[in-house]
Amino acid sequence: MHEKYPHLLAPLDLGHVTLRNRVLMGSMHVGLEEERGGYKKFAQYFKERAEGGVGLIVTGGIAPNREGWTKPFAAKLSTKAEAKKHKRVTDAVHDGGGLIAMQILHAGRYAYHPLAVAPSALKSPISWFKPRALSSRGVKRTINDFANCTARAREAGYDGVEIMGSEGYLINQFIAPRTNRRDDEWGGDYEARIRFPLEILRATRKAAGDDFIIIYRLSMLDLVKGGSTWKEVVQLAKEVEKAGASIINTGIGWHEARIPTIATMVPRRAFTWVTKKLKEEVSIPLVTSNRLNRPEVCEQVLADGCADMVSMARPLLADSHFVQKAEQGREAEINVCIACNQACLDHVFANKRASCLVNPRACHETELVVLPAKKKTRVAVVGAGPAGLSCATVAAERGLSVTLFESSDRVGGQLHMASAIPGKEEFKETIKYFETLLEKRGVDVRLHTRATDEVLRQEKFDHIVLAAGVNPREVDIPGADLPHVLSYVDVLLHKKPVGDRVVIIGAGGIGYDVAEFLVHGEREPSSLHVEEFLAEWGIDPDNEVRGGVEGIEMEWPKAARQVTVCQRSPDRPGKRLGKTTGWIHRTTLKHYGVRFMPGVSYEKIDERGITVDTGRGVELIECDNVIICAGQVPRKEWQAPFEALGVPVTVIGGADVAAELDAKRAIKQGAEVAIAM
Ligand code: NAP
Ligand code: SF4
Repeated sequence: MHEKYPHLLAPLDLGHVTLRNRVLMGSMHVGLEEERGGYKKFAQYFKERAEGGVGLIVTGGIAPNREGWTKPFAAKLSTKAEAKKHKRVTDAVHDGGGLIAMQILHAGRYAYHPLAVAPSALKSPISWFKPRALSSRGVKRTINDFANCTARAREAGYDGVEIMGSEGYLINQFIAPRTNRRDDEWGGDYEARIRFPLEILRATRKAAGDDFIIIYRLSMLDLVKGGSTWKEVVQLAKEVEKAGASIINTGIGWHEARIPTIATMVPRRAFTWVTKKLKEEVSIPLVTSNRLNRPEVCEQVLADGCADMVSMARPLLADSHFVQKAEQGREAEINVCIACNQACLDHVFANKRASCLVNPRACHETELVVLPAKKKTRVAVVGAGPAGLSCATVAAERGLSVTLFESSDRVGGQLHMASAIPGKEEFKETIKYFETLLEKRGVDVRLHTRATDEVLRQEKFDHIVLAAGVNPREVDIPGADLPHVLSYVDVLLHKKPVGDRVVIIGAGGIGYDVAEFLVHGEREPSSLHVEEFLAEWGIDPDNEVRGGVEGIEMEWPKAARQVTVCQRSPDRPGKRLGKTTGWIHRTTLKHYGVRFMPGVSYEKIDERGITVDTGRGVELIECDNVIICAGQVPRKEWQAPFEALGVPVTVIGGADVAAELDAKRAIKQGAEVAIAM
């Protein structure tokens, strides 16, 4: 028994096979499935996770037929030729000492193509394509396709399959009255609506045999009107057990739900109580999921009796060796998933290969390879923000001699500002992670030290990396130099006092962040309190009402300040925020009554406030403070003096290009430069 993680690291006996621990790598589409030659990269991606100690891996969703594709030519498994490609993946995982199940996902009305089918011809709010209603024969054919896909998965060497019955995909669409309006044997009362998943389970069990893992992902909290009631969830779970599932996994929220379920403002373990409610109802193992990102959190969830296993998808993208590090007492070295979605889900929804903001090697394992350096180059990295930290730690991992110069009293740079935003506390984990690596890899960190050309000349470095970051852009508005005009740095970093009425200039990511910071005031954010989070988003804490939301009002606290956000462009404010998180920020600020004014031009700032031309007339917006969030400019003033030293100088991060800089680009560029040195 492991001393620190006795629950998390305990084996799990499934009868014909024993999982080495209670960690399931949750399903996540990463885009390698469809890339030309992607299966080689896919195999290495999973192999590293298997070597890192995961108990059971589940692949991203694979369609059982063409109608079930999530998008045109998405990954499918129905033929022998397709099974052959998967063999490379299963062999790699088995070589790495792991087990792997393939998720079978039929998109139903979420499909982004004209072949889409569904129980009823009802268009979903998240796809342009109206589905065709499956005929009764079509339903039976689809069940056979699930069974055939399972047989092929077994042939391809998988240890099991996961039947995707949640998140609002086809199976879920059959179950819920919201999407199933049929009057044949597959619709009507609840018994008829759950016939589809149960027939699939029986058919897949028959196709796979007894010595094969079948996970059923069951939507336990739909978070949409017209979803299931808890009584129905329990009934389905019992039937799923009888129909031959080996494990039940938890699904939370349909994709069309307008409630965040995994983004960073969702508290850790926000939904484990839902799985716990089911624990006494079934006897097969239950898996819980959503916002589990540290081993101690997972251990507590299992110790609390919420489930038998924990599922983590993004945390294993962020760190392939999460389990092994916990096992070896190296938790501080875990690169923690901060639930930002910026490089994983935002990429997938933009049809790009997924990666990870904090770990750019994710899904690039065969391309971003960290090899030992051929000679012990002496490297100076100037600036300890995300770009500099990434570069310094990867260079040191390669065995280079690295000195990191930072003029302030701590490493982290802009990450400190991000972590001050309510709901973005997880950024602190990234700072801690880098601090641990700097120490472990022996980087010579010089805080309070401005690296001038003179300092660098004396120490005879072979390579200089300039990662000095950015300065906030100053604006050319009369009155911008008045004392009540602040920059976002003054507010977030220097914590300068801010009055009750505020105008923010700039509606980019930082303008939104500052608005959220100001409306929250001193109150602890709901991202740290599950009950408050549930109340804000109108989720029934007992999960008794239909979908867990019907008839429940959202309860948002009163804003601590009156905030107006302006921008010159007439575009919809917040248009460029993250694809999977922008809507959450927009919704939150709407509930706090923040006023947005796009398409203005700024006339002047004075002690009364700011005067703007709205296009319909001139308006004085009275306020106590104006806060400038107008983007950044690169801090490059040291580039020429450093280059004059006659050694290679590489400029990275915001010091290179400030426009649209974010931590994702900074960390990736830092790692790439270190690998190429
Ligand atoms: P940004 O996204 O470029 O936004 C800058 C804002 O300032 C724009 O609204 C722009 O609007 C305005 N502006 C630019 N020049 C101006 C001028 N001379 N005078 C007045 N207004 C001016 O920059 P940011 O907000 O600083 O964000 C920096 C980076 O961090 C971005 O890549 C952003 O995506 C990322 N980030 C993202 C998030 C998130 O997704 N939640 C949060 C924080 C940061 P107009 O030109 O129309 O006035
Ligand atoms: Fe987690 Fe962000 Fe990485 Fe996605 S990109 S795995 S959310 S840290």
